[in-house]
Amino acid sequence: MSGGIRTNELLNCYHCGSTGCDLYQGLEDLMFGVPGQWSFLQCPSCGLAWLKNQPIVEDIPKLYESYYTHASVEPDNTFKKIVKIGIPVHDFAYNQALPHPRLLTAIAAKIGPLREIAAHSVMWQKAKTGGKLLDFGCGAGVDLFHLQQMGWQVFGTEPDPKAVEAARKLLNNDNVFEGFLEDAGFDENTFDALTSSHVLEHLFDPLTTLKECRRVMKPGAQLTFATPNIDSLASRHFKEYWRGLEIPRHLFLFSERSLREMAEKAGFRNIKILTPSCYAFYIWQGSYLLKTEHALPGGIPRNTGLGIKLRALFFWGMEFLRNHFGSPCGEELILIAEK
Ligand SMILES: [Zn+2]
Repeated sequence: MSGGIRTNELLNCYHCGSTGCDLYQGLEDLMFGVPGQWSFLQCPSCGLAWLKNQPIVEDIPKLYESYYTHASVEPDNTFKKIVKIGIPVHDFAYNQALPHPRLLTAIAAKIGPLREIAAHSVMWQKAKTGGKLLDFGCGAGVDLFHLQQMGWQVFGTEPDPKAVEAARKLLNNDNVFEGFLEDAGFDENTFDALTSSHVLEHLFDPLTTLKECRRVMKPGAQLTFATPNIDSLASRHFKEYWRGLEIPRHLFLFSERSLREMAEKAGFRNIKILTPSCYAFYIWQGSYLLKTEHALPGGIPRNTGLGIKLRALFFWGMEFLRNHFGSPCGEELILIAEK
């Protein structure tokens, strides 16, 4: 029991069974105020980290009582159009009209950090006009809305009813299932692409969900999952104050190795893992505020001054360069795999 939430201790690695070592102890939720003290263990063999006192399934909703899942979509300005439409036309074969001025798109497509943001916006999926794409844990459908604009026929699953309502309205269809993927009852071999952004770490049984993802994908379809990287530069620097820990809602935090091996166990092939640094600017600021102010209400760094923003920008640049020169330390792991 932790803060009125019923828990079970998980002492051995969910993935490989090794005995976990203490990573962090006595942590509190400094973002959404869930009561209790929480600890993290890490596997000495595969590097997977996990919440030691795992909430029982029935009590997991208590972790989300004041959590955000809603966001509004504002029209993209020219710069955003260049990054989210122009660069994917260059890099992922989308056939949308290039935003004007075209010269700026050609220049932006040569800037590494912008290319990472662009790839993230289409989840590293190559264009397939009319192809069926499922975003699992789609929230209010903001990411799906962009993929719909890029030509995909989009579907989603989401357990939060308010988010489902927002997503259906935004996408102007009823293709968002309210509930968990396992309960949606999709037929085998249905989807041409499967995406998920920052959901895997919230699941109490991620391997079972990965297997279900594979089942509903067509042979040759690509899955792309984004999840925090426990070995990221900010994780190593800020340790228990790293924004990516998100205590106690993140039940598992993956290393490159544990994510790759779990995808293999689920039956995927042609597995590739990237560690982009698109979130470094945001994560550095959140982690810095957690460390210095011991609070980050709502989980989002707001109204930070110019000094903090410049330091975060410098950190982003450093992380990008280290990544680029062969040290995989970006804030996210991107699992790219085929059925
Ligand atoms: Zn392990």
